[in-house]
This record gives sequence, C-alpha cells and structure tokens, in this order.
Amino acid sequence: MILVFMEHREGKVKKSSLETLSEGKRRADELGLEVCAVLIGHEVDNLASETLPYGAAKVFVLENSLLSRYSSSGYAQALFTLAEEVKPKILLFSATAMGKDLAPRCAAKMGVSMASECTGTAVQNGSLTFIRPIYAGKAFITVGLSGIPQVATLRPNVFPLVEAQQNGGEIVKKEVAIGENQIKAQLEEIVRQEGSELDVTEAEIIISGGRGMKGAENFDLLRDLSKLLPHSAVGASRSAVDSGWIDHQHQVGQTGKTVSPNLYLAIGISGAIQHLAGMSSSKKIVAVNKDHEAPIFKVADFGVVGDLFQILPPFKEELKKVLSE
Ligand SMILES: Cc1cc2nc3c(=O)[nH]c(=O)nc-3n(C[C@H](O)[C@H](O)[C@H](O)COP(=O)(O)OP(=O)(O)OC[C@H]3O[C@@H](n4cnc5c(N)ncnc54)[C@H](O)[C@@H]3O)c2cc1C
Repeated sequence: MILVFMEHREGKVKKSSLETLSEGKRRADELGLEVCAVLIGHEVDNLASETLPYGAAKVFVLENSLLSRYSSSGYAQALFTLAEEVKPKILLFSATAMGKDLAPRCAAKMGVSMASECTGTAVQNGSLTFIRPIYAGKAFITVGLSGIPQVATLRPNVFPLVEAQQNGGEIVKKEVAIGENQIKAQLEEIVRQEGSELDVTEAEIIISGGRGMKGAENFDLLRDLSKLLPHSAVGASRSAVDSGWIDHQHQVGQTGKTVSPNLYLAIGISGAIQHLAGMSSSKKIVAVNKDHEAPIFKVADFGVVGDLFQILPPFKEELKKVLSE
C-alpha cells in the first residue's frame, strides 16, 4: 500500500495533498499496489469524499477531539499507530510547512530514513525511487530508500492531479487513542498577514520583486497586477525583504520559501543562486531586468530587457484589456 497523508485547512483538503495522492496513484498502478489516504482531525469525515475521486482505494479517517488542531506529536502518534496496523510500503506527504514538520517526525518514530522536497518519482527495478534537488537546486539526485515504509515529501505544484472520477473507494473511520500527555505542542491560531493575500507556496502565479523595485511603495505595482490575476501572490527577493520593503513571508529562495508556480514573474531580480534555489522549478519564468546580462535570463523562458517602471504600467493596462475580452 502507498499511504498519503491528506492535509486540510479551513474545511478543505489542500490541493497539494491531492497532487501527492495523484502521484501516489500513478506509482501504485505501476507497482501493483493500492493507494490509500489518511485524514486526521476531529469531525473531518466529510473531507473523505473530496479525497476518494483522486484514486484512493481507502480513506482512513483518524478522529480524536484532541487532534482538532494540528499537533506534530499527536499527528505523528496517530499516523504511527495506523502504519503499525496497515503496514504501508510507502508513506507520502506534501512538502508544505505541515508535511515538512510531520514527515521527519514519523520517519524517526518508524526508524527509517526519508527523502524530502522530491520533484519527481520513478519506478526502477520494481521499487520506487525519488528525485530531489541538491546543492540549492543546482543538481538533482535520485534516491532509493531501503527502509519500510519509504517516507518522502513531494514538492507542491510539481505533480499533476489525476482526473477526478467516481471510484468505489471505502471510507474507514477509526477512533485514535491519544492521551493529553501525547500532545506536546499544538497549533493555537493561524494569523494571515497583510489581509487575505495568498501565500506564495499556494499561488499558481507569483509576481516577485527585487532590489530593482527601489522602494516599499513600488510593490503596489506588483500588488495591482496580482489583484488582476486569480490565484496569484506577490513574492520578493531577500534584498527586498532585508531592505524592509516587504515582509519575510513573501521571500522566495534558499532562506525563504520554495515555490513551483505555473508562472513566475521576476521583476528587478538579478537571479542569484540563492534566489534560484527557491523558484527554478517554476513551470514558466518571465524576467524583467534592465541588465541584459543578469543571470535570471539564463533560467527565464521569456525575458524583457528594460526599465520595469516603463514596462509594468502599460503591461497592466494591456492585461486588463485582455482579461476583459
Ligand atoms: C546564505 C544566503 C542565503 C540567501 N537566501 C536568499 C533567499 O532566500 N532569497 C533571495 O532572493 N536571496 C537570498 N540570498 C541573497 C542573494 O545572494 C542575493 O543577494 C539576492 O537574491 C539579490 O536580490 P535582488 O536580485 O533583488 O538584488 P540585486 O542582485 O541587487 O539585483 C537587482 C536587479 O534589479 C535590476 N534592476 C535595477 N533597477 C531596475 C529597473 N528599473 N528595471 C529593471 N531592472 C532593474 C538590476 O539590473 C539587478 O539585476 C541569500 C544569500 C546568502 C549568502
């Protein structure tokens, strides 16, 4: 069995978990295994029906009122107990903040190693291998894991969803026995900064600004574009963040967030290796920079050489026209 941990927030299963489940389904078919999903929380069984269409043969729903809010020790204990019972060969998580917290804890509890932030998987000689970036994204390595279960986190926005369809999957509800002493730390509150802006890790389009933006007030140019484009978010280089122009939560790169949107717009960003480490797996990269030798152009699919302050305002007007057609 391939078991996939399903993350949920505000009453919805996260898309990145459905992507992970989809990849699990594809590999399970190749390996002759079944893919199952696991939801943890309190009164979350209604989310199982959102999960079944993505190929899960079973959705385990682990219920306990103590797990109504995320707790790494509590969730790890619940997963560990389930894994002892159903003995998955492979255990997958999405590489979100929660997945990155939970997966290593589970792997350690199970005494196995893990592969993190995978951008690909493959079946080789009848077993699953994982492809993941190393040296800040400069190279990729294929990793085989000998322990069982093989534990891995898969990077969000990289793996396509399988086509959702009706299947005869089963929902299996289980009460988990967890004591209060097993909840060592628990999520208290999620505070969204800067209104309801989408987080860069969840956005399909990211419009990022760098030192070339010249000041905090000019990030409004990027926010205006973001308002026009659904599922988009504003990102930033570390220089822009260090200058105090935008909050660190927007920073993309080695010491910021790792993103893989469908479209990444790098505006006034030179393309330092530490920035590329966070965004080079974006599906399409468009760079605007006045220096035609800026390294960002080496990774960009489309490049515009020029002054961003001349380019962005007419671009915004053009975009408005196209979107209203
Ligand atoms: C350990 C470590 C970790 C780091 N982590 C990160 C990280 O997570 N994320 C990150 O981004 N960086 C990180 N850095 C910093 C990184 O090395 C670079 O310094 C940083 O990415 C540069 O940001 P920038 O491209 O905005 O600025 P710059 O390198 O100064 O580039 C600004 C660009 O804007 C262009 N420009 C200027 N004016 C205009 C204009 N009017 N129109 C168009 N273009 C214009 C310039 O030609 C230039 O290419 C890290 C560094 C270290 C040492």
